[in-house]
Parts: sequence; structure tokens; C-alpha cells
Amino acid sequence: MTKTIAGFVWFLGLVGWYVIRHPFERRARKIRVSKSLFDWRERSLLGAGFLGLLVIPGIYVTSGFPAAFDRPFVPAVAWLGLLPLAGALWLFRRSHADLGRNWSISLQMRPEHALVRSGVYRLIRHPMYSSFFLLGVAQLLLLPNWFAGIAGLVGAGILFAFRVRREERMMLEFFGDEYRAYMAETKRIIPWIV
Ligand code: SAH
Repeated sequence: MTKTIAGFVWFLGLVGWYVIRHPFERRARKIRVSKSLFDWRERSLLGAGFLGLLVIPGIYVTSGFPAAFDRPFVPAVAWLGLLPLAGALWLFRRSHADLGRNWSISLQMRPEHALVRSGVYRLIRHPMYSSFFLLGVAQLLLLPNWFAGIAGLVGAGILFAFRVRREERMMLEFFGDEYRAYMAETKRIIPWIV
């Protein structure tokens, strides 16, 4: 593994990410929305994720900026990055497949919204956010630059921290006791832990 290959692997991960999401985005546009919290706040949170997981590492991989934060490239560390990358892509795909027609990029409810408690949602309520964190870990291990490396985890952290309570409040309003029971038997992003 070389530094260039590690950067390319990071890029391939992103392509995989897009390939998984694209069909859901196309389909989601055709499904009606009954309640939407897609406001400036949501847009900024999505922007933070986009910046940390895509724009900043993208600039680093293509230009080497900001070189002041470079760290030595350790091949074994980059190899290790393949694990969270594979995990992130797997979880991202599974969570989209499990949510199916209930998925949307922001906080939205559909007229026929069903509460999904099966598949990966049986263990955690926010597997898609878990996959963002895994992607952030992969980025940190693959890219030998502290700034570009950590940016993904910071972006995912901001998105998660400022969105999750609002999302759960919306789900509680919509599903009431059913969601309360679901919350009692699951954790948010790591099974049995948190
Ligand atoms: N937080 C989830 C889903 C993110 S997508 C995760 O990390 O996996 C956001 C949309 O998914 C929201 O509009 C919400 O309505 C919907 N959603 C989240 N959890 C759901 C569930 N268990 N069942 C059905 N829809 C859900």
C-alpha cells in the first residue's frame, strides 16, 4: 500500500457510497412527504457531513493541501482502514435496503410511513449514522494527514449530535408508544453500548 493507493481506495469508497445511495435518492423523490423538517438547520448539518467526509478529504487527495498537517504514511495503518471502509459500505447498503421507501435524506415522514424494526434496525436505531462514523474512521486511517483525516469524524459527529434528538422527537410524535418501546430495546449507533 502506498499513499497514492490509499487515497485512491478512499475515493473508491466514495464512489461505492454514491452507487448505493443514488437509486434510493431517485426513488425517494417520487414518494410523497407528509411532514418535513428540511430547514436551514438540516441543510447546514448535511453540509457539515458533506464538507468533512467529501470536500476536505477530496481537496487533500487531489492537491495535498493542507501539507502542514501531514503525518508519516504507515502502510499497516492504511491496510487497517479497509476494515471500517468495508463495514461502512455494507452497513450503508443494509440500512438503505431495510428502510426502503421510508428513507429520505433529511427528516421527513411519508403518508404511509412504517416504523422499521427489522434487519440492522433490530439492534440499533441509527445504523446509517453508524456507517458515517465508520467511514470517518476509514478516512482517518487511510489519509496520512491529521486535518483531512479527522474531518470526516468531525462532520459525522456534528450531523449526528445535532440531528439525532430532533429525529427521535419526530419519530415519537408520529409513532408514539411504538417508538418508545423500540427505544427501550435498542441503542443508537453501537449495539448494546450506545
Ligand atoms: N437515523 C436513521 C435513518 C436516517 S434517514 C439511521 O441512521 O439509520 C432519515 C429518515 O429516516 C427520517 O426521515 C426518518 O423518518 C426515517 N427513519 C429513521 N428511522 C426509521 C425507522 N426505524 N423506521 C422508519 N423510518 C425511519
